[in-house]
Amino acid sequence: MDYEAFFASAIERLRSEGNYRTFADLDRRVGDFPRATHKTATGTADVTIWCSNDYLGMGQHEVVRAAMKEAIDASGSGTGGTRSISGTSPHHVVLERELAALHGTESALLFTSGYVANEAVLSTLGRLLPGCVFVSDALNHASMIAGMRNSRAEKHIFAHNDPEDLDRVLGQLEPGRPKVVVFESVYSMEGDIAPVAEIAEVAERHGTMTYLDEVHAVGMYGARGAGIAERDGVQDRIAFIQGTLAKAFGVFGGYVAGWARAMDFIRSFAPGFIFTTALPPAIAVGALASMRLLAADPSIRERLHERVAALKRALEGTGLPVMPTASHIVPLHVGHPVRCRAISEELLSRHRIYVQPIVHPTVPKGTERLRLTPTPLHTDEDIRRLVDALRDVWARVGTKS
Ligand SMILES: *Cc1c(COP(=O)(O)O)cnc(C)c1O
Repeated sequence: MDYEAFFASAIERLRSEGNYRTFADLDRRVGDFPRATHKTATGTADVTIWCSNDYLGMGQHEVVRAAMKEAIDASGSGTGGTRSISGTSPHHVVLERELAALHGTESALLFTSGYVANEAVLSTLGRLLPGCVFVSDALNHASMIAGMRNSRAEKHIFAHNDPEDLDRVLGQLEPGRPKVVVFESVYSMEGDIAPVAEIAEVAERHGTMTYLDEVHAVGMYGARGAGIAERDGVQDRIAFIQGTLAKAFGVFGGYVAGWARAMDFIRSFAPGFIFTTALPPAIAVGALASMRLLAADPSIRERLHERVAALKRALEGTGLPVMPTASHIVPLHVGHPVRCRAISEELLSRHRIYVQPIVHPTVPKGTERLRLTPTPLHTDEDIRRLVDALRDVWARVGTKS
């Protein structure tokens, strides 16, 4: 086989569909976020980022940076082993204990990333629970889909955020079989929020465990920033609450929180937990500092929600195809990959605003979009400039395909 030709033709096919991905080279400078330096072949430019998942700007917070610097000097750079091969430090133990406390669960487990947490936990549950069936929301993230698929367990889909359809799907399954309902709280591409209490209620009625991805909610919702399950008072009705330390907490890593026995089971049987080096101590320390700060002080997330409301108000009446949402995520519908990319490129080249195009396979073909994520650090002036830039670019390329 001509391997090179195979790789080239696969890439060529992506290009011809408009789905080939390029990465913007962005140097984020502490103290200037959401500003960054965009490096290209021809030079550099100052740009404003409007699509970061560092939702609260914690990635540059001085308390988090100070904690991490101190931890590096005290404990070094890496852990040098898996959790069982001398990789467990007091920092990992404390972080797991406080994550469990945050979510009101008995226990928690750290993973290399949110992706790895979803893949490792779901693949292990599906592989080892005898006769396990997953019942999965239609718009679940790729990491959960990978975990369910890798388990080879049976999977059924219920309509997105639809407890009635979930009830229908569960009603068709044998009552005695072990079942796991898999869903997210805030869906980052739609910006909508799951009816967590109703889904938990339906699951309970069918004797089904629940697995909730709160990656786009932790730090930002609930009195202590534990997410939507905390906000809605249903943390005790969810078996597995999964989160990331890399988005609103601004650091790196993932976790799952839940019953002590379930965590012990995952710790003991999940290859994605067992066979990989433990997170560096400075990562655990930084994440803990960020989590503690956000749990104690709601002002940063209050400022986020105030900025989100300000952006939504500024977009009202502009005629731009804003998808209305109840979350901090503001998507703009485009519906075509080439046009979506063109809008993103024009925003960057003409207005020095960076919003990445969202195309297949992140979203289904025909639903390509831009996704705006305000942070507490975006000013009124940033919002005004963004809205003016969007109107200008939409007038140029918005309706052409
Ligand atoms: C980003 C994301 C993840 C993965 O989290 P990482 O820590 O970035 O690996 C998991 N679930 C959802 C819904 C996500 O958007």
